[in-house]
Amino acid sequence: MKLVFATNNANKLKEVQSLIPQHIKLLSLKDIGCFEDIPETQDTIEGNAIQKVEYVKTNYGYDCFADDTGLEVAALNNEPGVYSARYAGEQRDANDNMDLLLTNLKDKSNRKAQFKTVIALHLNGKLETFTGVCKGEITQEKKGNKGFGYDPIFKPTGHTKTFAEIDLKLKNEIGHRGKAVKQLIKYFNII
Ligand code: IMP
Repeated sequence: MKLVFATNNANKLKEVQSLIPQHIKLLSLKDIGCFEDIPETQDTIEGNAIQKVEYVKTNYGYDCFADDTGLEVAALNNEPGVYSARYAGEQRDANDNMDLLLTNLKDKSNRKAQFKTVIALHLNGKLETFTGVCKGEITQEKKGNKGFGYDPIFKPTGHTKTFAEIDLKLKNEIGHRGKAVKQLIKYFNII
């Protein structure tokens, strides 16, 4: 069975391919000739993940799954959420985004936050979603240089280091994306 993973990230594709049953062959957007930016215009993380799979199904005819992630900060009404990538502007700069978040949290004592990943899957005429959450808090300053995005200012609950200070293997075990991918794999194994 051929299934599209709506991503252009070759590492993500390889990683998921190695974890799912062998009869499912993953195709990237490039593999199906999709080179345009897929619209992500919904106001929820779940909505954007669903929008991506429906776009691929409608325009290319393939069954597909897609992920979308956001950082939800309790004291900021769960912002930046779906706007995480462009929180500080269309330049989508991770440092600018972190600086703005730290400024907006300056006077707040509640630093609780969570990363949320939603994977939407359109398969055999059915739409399923899988959600992975990682709870933690926003630190006072940036620490570490691993990872990407908001990793230097996110400390997962029960750990003393930020996501940018821990190894990817541990991040995948306790992290939002890893948890959502695990559910997807479980689903593939029972269908
Ligand atoms: P995407 O949906 O995976 O493209 O993620 C949207 C935005 O959320 C990214 O541009 C990052 O700013 C942020 N983000 C997503 N996943 C992570 C993560 O694992 N660590 C830190 N930031 C992340």
